[in-house]
Amino acid sequence: MPEIVRTTCPYCGVGCGVIAARLDDSAQWVVRGDPEHPANFGRLCVKGSSLAETLDLDGRLLHPMIGEQTVAWEPALDLVAEKFTAAIAEHGPDSVAFYVSGQLLTEDYYVANKLMKGFIGSGNIDTNSRLCMSSTVAGHVRAFGSDTVPGCYEDLDLADLVVLVGSNTAWCHPVAFQRILAAKARRPDMRIVVVDPRRTATAECADLHLAIRPGTDAILFNGLLAHLRGEEAQVEVGVPLEQIVQFFSWFAETEKTVTVWSQGINQSSSGTDKVDAIINCHLQTGRIGRPGMGPFSLTGQPNAMGGREVGGLANMLAAHMGFDEANVDRVGRFWASERVAAKPGLKAVDMFKAVAESKIKALWVMCTNPAVSMPEADLVRAAIAACPFVVVSECEADTDTARLAHVRLPALTWGEKEGTVTNSERRISRQRPFLPTPGEAKGDWWIMAQVAQRMGFGEAFAWTDTGAIFDEFCRLTAFENHGARDLDLSGLVGADYESIEPIQWPVREPGKGTARLFADGRFYHPDGKARMVDTPPRPPARATDEAFPLILNTGRMRDQWHTMTRTGRAARLAAHAPEPVLQVHPRDAIRFRLADGGLAKVSGRRASVVLRIAFDNGQRPGEVFAPIHWNDRTSSGAVVGTLIDAATDPVSGQPELKQAPVMVEPLDAA
Ligand code: SF4
Repeated sequence: MPEIVRTTCPYCGVGCGVIAARLDDSAQWVVRGDPEHPANFGRLCVKGSSLAETLDLDGRLLHPMIGEQTVAWEPALDLVAEKFTAAIAEHGPDSVAFYVSGQLLTEDYYVANKLMKGFIGSGNIDTNSRLCMSSTVAGHVRAFGSDTVPGCYEDLDLADLVVLVGSNTAWCHPVAFQRILAAKARRPDMRIVVVDPRRTATAECADLHLAIRPGTDAILFNGLLAHLRGEEAQVEVGVPLEQIVQFFSWFAETEKTVTVWSQGINQSSSGTDKVDAIINCHLQTGRIGRPGMGPFSLTGQPNAMGGREVGGLANMLAAHMGFDEANVDRVGRFWASERVAAKPGLKAVDMFKAVAESKIKALWVMCTNPAVSMPEADLVRAAIAACPFVVVSECEADTDTARLAHVRLPALTWGEKEGTVTNSERRISRQRPFLPTPGEAKGDWWIMAQVAQRMGFGEAFAWTDTGAIFDEFCRLTAFENHGARDLDLSGLVGADYESIEPIQWPVREPGKGTARLFADGRFYHPDGKARMVDTPPRPPARATDEAFPLILNTGRMRDQWHTMTRTGRAARLAAHAPEPVLQVHPRDAIRFRLADGGLAKVSGRRASVVLRIAFDNGQRPGEVFAPIHWNDRTSSGAVVGTLIDAATDPVSGQPELKQAPVMVEPLDAA
């Protein structure tokens, strides 16, 4: 009989169910889609189906290290606890910080948040999800009174109009896109509208592609709102008027409309307003929370949603609670701690500024690579290098960030660790181990719990397994009737952790999830109503000028993931795009004397990288595009994050990773 383990894909926020299997006499695992998982019903994209090719141990961090010396766990954990305790004693709790990741499992996230906010007493825990969807979180909270995704993937199957905004869904959430295409194949009258400055693989499949000027999304959706209200719409977004009229007319006449958005909306200095401009149109028409309709944010990472739930963002406490006095008190009583942080901590960009300003004396980075992925990545790298004490928990020995650490702690990774994740439709699924523990690697939750106990927080961190942590989190969501709000997991309290089936929160009764919310017109503001938020359009923070005349847009490639620590292992995935290229419209190529296939220096205000040029008629003239994945570990060495200023949305703190003024000059053009 084959050995079979049901788990969840570790890449994007679609959260596909995966079956890992091997024959008894084989060391080789194969991976296929789980036909029973409601996110994918057996489908996998090329990244998911290549997972079995990424399981080797090359480059893994297998033992704790202090500097370049391999050590046992005891001295490494003792040193981390001692340094954090000393920094807190000398400079106060806000002198330390955790920077974590949407790749962590919910249980890991919960422990990190409990340690920092609950017992160290600082809000200084933030996550790379800040770079991904924090504008959506803020937009949800303003509109609904809670960070609640109203709908589910089934709405993509049922909609008569799917509007994809700032989302190359075909590449970045491929299985969700397959569901949309399958729906269109079944019902050819269904329409797809894509709003994106670039002609992406997604736009190729659209009935209508609005290649709007970057940053004009709020103008477009404010215009749509005016049209829906029967008012005169003023819309100048850089596309022909008849396209706008067509879009408005389709939206107005189609009851079953889902508007999907992703990083093209979120990664903006006005991202929260853009999110609310979209939500306004659904509130105006009452198209929310009913089958086939609603505003729908796709999260980038496998557990961005789980992190939001447990307080992985610096401005949330835990279980969707904010920092008001009643919630601080409630969480303090639940955790039996008198040290609970009373105010939000530093969001990602501000956190690394505080590191650069020597305000952070001890930094712990878990499962992420900010030396590559942050805007102003060069400054972030220098700040980490200068920080008095840096810990990195990682599965990789040699990431750009791990190289800067005083202590490296070997963490388990996908296929080895266990816990839960929550996908874009609020669906909690299990990740289960099927591989042996390599070297001395440990789960992130265990590492943090060991440090917490050494810092004197004993009993509160004495779990023996992830099931106990999950159960504690579920009890917190319902503690003192807090579960009357959206995130209620009381129906999972005491559940058999091993056999939890994929389920959407809120889960108020055992085995009963919730596909959609808000159809009854009740929201989570105190008066039970939603809010239409005023969203006056603002231009991007950084404009082009004579010295930097082109707009650089950044994003993902189809077959790579983040900084390539896993996808870089699969030759099949590298074949799609062996190196990063700068996509340039041929008209700009003439203007800047660039050759197709030639090398060019791409300069931002502080830094330059070298990229190969690829002509692309899908680019708008005046705009170029580069992928985010390559870094110092890869052959290219092009860290695109060095070109991007750390301009942030004032509400969400999300940086504007989609818009940086650059100059492009040929290195070897004809
Ligand atoms: Fe994994 Fe996302 Fe692909 Fe699904 S769509 S297999 S979750 S990368």
